[in-house]
Amino acid sequence: MKLSKGLAGIAIAALVLSGCGNSNGNNEGNGEKLKVVASFYPMVEFTKQVAGDHAEVVGLIPSGAEPHDWEPSPKDVAAIQDADLFVYNGMIEGWVEKTLESTKNEKRIVVRAIDGIELIEGSDEHEHEEEGHEEEGEHPLDPHVWLSPTLAQQEVRHIQAGLERADPDNKDNYKKNADAYIEKLKALDEKFKQDLSNSKHKEFITQHAAFGYLAKDYGLTQVPIAGLSPEQEPSPEEMAEVVAFAKEHEVKTIFFETLVDPKIAQTIADEIGAKTDVLNPLEGLTEEDMSKGLDYIKIMENNLAGLAKALNE
Ligand SMILES: [Zn+2]
Repeated sequence: MKLSKGLAGIAIAALVLSGCGNSNGNNEGNGEKLKVVASFYPMVEFTKQVAGDHAEVVGLIPSGAEPHDWEPSPKDVAAIQDADLFVYNGMIEGWVEKTLESTKNEKRIVVRAIDGIELIEGSDEHEHEEEGHEEEGEHPLDPHVWLSPTLAQQEVRHIQAGLERADPDNKDNYKKNADAYIEKLKALDEKFKQDLSNSKHKEFITQHAAFGYLAKDYGLTQVPIAGLSPEQEPSPEEMAEVVAFAKEHEVKTIFFETLVDPKIAQTIADEIGAKTDVLNPLEGLTEEDMSKGLDYIKIMENNLAGLAKALNE
């Protein structure tokens, strides 16, 4: 970046000022907030909830975009370079390792929110493994932990720990905010338990395999039309399997997503005379979600209402 002489002078003055009385290399004392960059919606939301007023949290993946196939622009890479704290989920953001490698910053704290969480393998209802084998021949593990209200709590704790390391002076605030948000996630978990425990059916059909952890938490079976990533389109045989499953289990609702073309879900619904509804994997908010003031908790409550209804048809 080219700075004019005057601007450069201001920038240097700001650097000198920020060096004054700054014990930990961060930004207390000069009114500048901790700079946090987070990858996609749930990471942004969890980080904002814990950070409160004490950090400026920037999300990378824009509204309406879907994170499985997103790549950072040079501007995004620059933001990651300059961040005091970088938060990502892990596994779904395939670009992160090489981006962190190319933007070395010793002061930057990195949180991989999925760390330490016991991962499950992607749904093996269909033979998607072949396609998913691109990563060093490993069995594909499921990255969608944020859709479990219990595992989301672990991610929030990891983010809290990262904020505390990056900005120890506000440790008490981060703990207080994280505790408050975790109470909300616990209440959400209780609601899911209550509203799903006596369901007539246990099977639900989704657009891609995003709801494995949620299904596991509440004793349900997810049957995905696509694989772990929405780009993995089903073969005609796999579609026929989903149709047969739906008929056998009397599934009357096919769920689709807000960020992915619902064409295939609609085709299956038409074939079995089912209706469609939204089950939102929270991989990003749409403009419409934002204009309605929806957030993680509200969308999860909508997901619960949709599931409870579909499982009792
Ligand atoms: Zn996904």
